[in-house]
Amino acid sequence: MVLFCETYLLISSHNGRYKRVVAHRGSVTAPRSSINGDLMTNFDPIQNYIYSKRNGGLRISLGGLNPTGASCEIINEHGNPKLIGKCHRQVWYSKKRIPRTNVSDDLSMIRFGIGDAYEEELQKHWEKQGILLASNLKIKAPIGVCSDGEQIDMSGEIDAILRMAEMDDKGRVIGMNMDEAVAIEVKSTRGYFSEKVLLGKANKMYPIGFPKMEHLMQTGMYLHTRKVVEDTYGVKIPYGIIVYGLVDACKTNQFRIELSNGYDGEILVKTMDGRLITPVTDPMSMLEGADYKSIQGLTIENILERYVLSYEKLKADTPPERDFSLRFSDELFEELKSQGELTKTKMAAFAKSHITPVGDWQCSYCDWKDECYPFGVMTELVESGGITKEDAMRELGF
Ligand code: SF4
Repeated sequence: MVLFCETYLLISSHNGRYKRVVAHRGSVTAPRSSINGDLMTNFDPIQNYIYSKRNGGLRISLGGLNPTGASCEIINEHGNPKLIGKCHRQVWYSKKRIPRTNVSDDLSMIRFGIGDAYEEELQKHWEKQGILLASNLKIKAPIGVCSDGEQIDMSGEIDAILRMAEMDDKGRVIGMNMDEAVAIEVKSTRGYFSEKVLLGKANKMYPIGFPKMEHLMQTGMYLHTRKVVEDTYGVKIPYGIIVYGLVDACKTNQFRIELSNGYDGEILVKTMDGRLITPVTDPMSMLEGADYKSIQGLTIENILERYVLSYEKLKADTPPERDFSLRFSDELFEELKSQGELTKTKMAAFAKSHITPVGDWQCSYCDWKDECYPFGVMTELVESGGITKEDAMRELGF
């Protein structure tokens, strides 16, 4: 039912009297009524929040490649080569604005909101304490040149720049250094796995925790491009800090991130008092012949090389090769197993069914998973002509 309506505002005038002003005139749709006579509406504030978050609540990029799009070939603690970070095909889908086939669910939208609120709360108090120099600072800087001579830019947003300050053991500011500042990256997370990786709970390799690789590369790229921030604010930024907030357990951890060669070199992870964090080989693993080594190859140079490669691939009209797998091939599975890279759960799931997607986590969480793998784990077989589309669908139980 459509109703005509007028909305009024009462505005006080200079002589102390109120006058009525029409603020809105038009029609409204009346709420639906149920057949029982109870008033029914589809008014849902939470769903409205989720809608808003999904359609415009996310950050807007200044263009170019992004720090969250970083990737790198490293040698991990087990001595095995490993590609970490963002898949180039995923970057291609994103930059070509291919519609997402696997969008984040409502729960994820609320999680993003909690993360934003956590970050804002920290910024608010840093501002109150007088150490917040800038928040949500948008940054755009050149990071390389394509083979055809085109400049490649990176744009991102630094969560906060804080003035370097001396504090007492309660955190009260007792002195401020006006010439130095620190770049802060805030990450909120939750769950047992985060406590293990980031806080070091039951973590034999890193008993005091270690940042996630993607966050290290992101912070590393901010440090690489920080000159423009230093010049703008007239400060030196010797290092960055990743602040982790485990929002379910209300626990925190923070890591100091430095580059070994000023604006380039290796990305180093240190404790807040500047001690390098290296992997520990526990006695049991030692007995089994293990000897964990620090990660090698996690350098700005290697990350930049991958950025250039990614940018070159964006010039093509078809998506590049997949960097990761929805399900490991039998050969890759055996190789990863012999390298000790698979958990018992993954090995059991792989053995149990040939259609279970036991592969890289990047594919499991990819927004374009169904675009990239239209026939799920059968896609590569369909592409190579090893099975028909119809048989693939049947195999998958459709
Ligand atoms: S599904 Fe996997 S391989 Fe495909 S784009 Fe996403 S991350 Fe890359």
